[in-house]
Amino acid sequence: MSTSEKPRPHETEESRPYWRGAERGALMIQRCAHCGKLRHYPRLVCDNCHSLESDWVEASRRGTLHSWTVAHHAFHPGFAQDVPYVLATIDLEEGVRALGILDAPADGKLAPGAAVTGRFERRGDGVSVLHFFLARQGPRLVKGDDQC
Ligand SMILES: [Zn+2]
Repeated sequence: MSTSEKPRPHETEESRPYWRGAERGALMIQRCAHCGKLRHYPRLVCDNCHSLESDWVEASRRGTLHSWTVAHHAFHPGFAQDVPYVLATIDLEEGVRALGILDAPADGKLAPGAAVTGRFERRGDGVSVLHFFLARQGPRLVKGDDQC
């Protein structure tokens, strides 16, 4: 591996359904099979009822901008060509928070609460990464976006 390649996600047993969903463009959210509470990022135990049982639901990929930061320095050589970029936390319609790249100008004006839509972008190494787009700019229509 050259130093210019991006690191790959560390897939675990808990996160595997998320990454399989990402491969087909679906944002999968873990749900407690006992009390029904949604949780994201994926983890072993429900923080509401402590159940170890879970299943998965597909999220809408719609939400609002919670917060963001602009990366001006690459934390890994693989991201050197991407800076500056906006990394954002998004409050999904389903009530959980997700992290992703926000495809917006790094020097642009952003506001908390701005409507966003998410889509998985497949990198050159085959890893699908969650990106968000401001709703007013709209994502390009791709397979699986017909529900937006
Ligand atoms: Zn629970």
